[in-house]
This record gives sequence, C-alpha cells and structure tokens, in this order.
Amino acid sequence: MTEVRCPLCKTVPEHGRKWDYGERTTVQCAVCGFYTITGTAVSIAERQNISHKLSAYTRDNTERGVDVPEINSNNLSQLQTSLPDYGVGDKQLLYMRALERRSKFPGSLVQVTPGIDYPLAWASGEEEFLYLLRDLLSRRLVAVPEGGTKALREDVSFETLITPAGWEYLEKHRAVSAISDQVFVAMSFSPNLQAAWEDAIRPAIVESGYKPYRIDDEPHVDRIDSKIIAEIRNSGFLVADVTEQRPGVYFEAGFALGLGLKVFWCVRSDDLEHVHFDTRQYNHIVWETEADLKEKLFYFVTSVAGKRTAT
Ligand SMILES: [Zn+2]
Repeated sequence: MTEVRCPLCKTVPEHGRKWDYGERTTVQCAVCGFYTITGTAVSIAERQNISHKLSAYTRDNTERGVDVPEINSNNLSQLQTSLPDYGVGDKQLLYMRALERRSKFPGSLVQVTPGIDYPLAWASGEEEFLYLLRDLLSRRLVAVPEGGTKALREDVSFETLITPAGWEYLEKHRAVSAISDQVFVAMSFSPNLQAAWEDAIRPAIVESGYKPYRIDDEPHVDRIDSKIIAEIRNSGFLVADVTEQRPGVYFEAGFALGLGLKVFWCVRSDDLEHVHFDTRQYNHIVWETEADLKEKLFYFVTSVAGKRTAT
C-alpha cells in the first residue's frame, strides 16, 4: 500500500487506499470520514475553496452511518449548492450535538483533538474551531476540567464536557433545528392537491417566516432520491400532507424523523381513515378546505417552531 494523502484535508490517513485503474481515491480519514472522490473533483474543490465543506459533509455522513456517494465532477456542483453556509451559532450547535453523541452520560469527559474534530463544527480548520470552542467555554455551555484550558491549542488533545447549561441549550434546540429556515414539503403532486399547495401550505409557511421547498420547484437532472435526501437534510423541519396516501410522502417524513426533525402531519378529513396505521399515533392536522388547512398549519408552525422574522 502506498502512502496516500487525504484529498480533502491533506493529512495522511491511517487507512488510505488508492486504486490505480481510475482517477478515484477512497480514504478512511480520521478528519473526513470514509469517502471516494475523483481527481477532477479534487481540483475543482480546491479551486473553489470548498474542500473543508466537503470534509464536513463526508465526516457528517460517516458519523451518521450514511454512505457518501462518490464525489465526482458530475455531482460536485449540485453538492456545492446543497451544502449549507452555516453561521457561527449554527456551527456551535452542530458541534454541541457532536459532543452530545460522544458523551457516554451527562458529565462524561469527551476527548477533543482540534486537528481532527474541526469538521464536526463545519469549521474551515483548527483555528476557526478553537475560536468557536472558546466562545462555547466562555458561555459556559462546555467546560474543560481544572488545568485543561492551558491545553487549548491546535496540536493538543484535551478533554471537555457539556455543562448543565449546555444540556439545557441542546434541549432547547431539540424540537426544531435552528439551522435552516427551509421547510421541506412532502405531498402528493396530483392536480387535486395543487390548490392545497398553492393556497394553503405554501402561504402558511411563508407567512410563518420560513421558506417552503417542494421537490418539483426546481428542474434537476440528478436522481430524484439523492436530491430529496439532500433537501430534507437542508431543512429545519418537514410538512407531510399524506392525503392520497403516497408512499413517497411517508418515506420522506420517516427520513426526517430519523434525522430528528420535527414533522407536521396533515390529512384531508375524507382521507383520515386511510392514514397509515403506524403513523396514526402522530397528531394530524385534519383539514376540510384549503383555507382551513392554511389557518391550522400556520397556527401549528408558529406555535411549535416559532414565527421567524426576516433578519
Ligand atoms: Zn481528510
């Protein structure tokens, strides 16, 4: 096995592999996780300065146990537009969630290595990562045990823990991801429900201060399922209208639930009895007319997710 540098973070991973028959590199990198990328995609990513975002994306998927599709010049531009530009608060929340996943129990110490952990905060490198972490420390959401603060350097591992205030902060951000103002709408595309989309769901979401996203909103060439997965990931929560009982709607809602996103279930009253048995346990917004749906959905979204004001 020849030594191979990780094409994204440029470190030398323990288990890097390169196959000679193509221009592909597959690596298992401590920083970027497990992924495959083509040489062309590497040079495009470097030119556009998005390698660190790809590291965060591949690491995130690896942590979740999701296979990363091969990154190549065909899907890179779509990937680039779907990768979010996180603000400081979002990055800190994402890192807090990573710490939470690593905490065996409240109060347990978690090993931090800035040079390996920075993609968990979607940071561009160790320097930005330490900036974000120092702020979390000063807000007392995380703590470093006595004496450990001296070690807050890029090249040193240290231990940290989530404080009670940190757990409270995580709990507060649990119901709705604070990360995206996009709302994914899963519903039947049949003409019978076009008015429910145009006159009810879309305006209810817009008036709540969020951006509704329905998959037929944009033309795209990629496989529909990878686009759906990417857009659900980019959403803060999901609205699922199960009227007409389309399997795709249940699939999308189930995927969102698996990501820990809030799902608002809706169904037209004449279809209520057909709602899938397994999801009947969830409260549904049962509606008669479009006006009815709009009013109820607006009420639910603003009371559960909160009304967003444009910033
Ligand atoms: Zn790497």
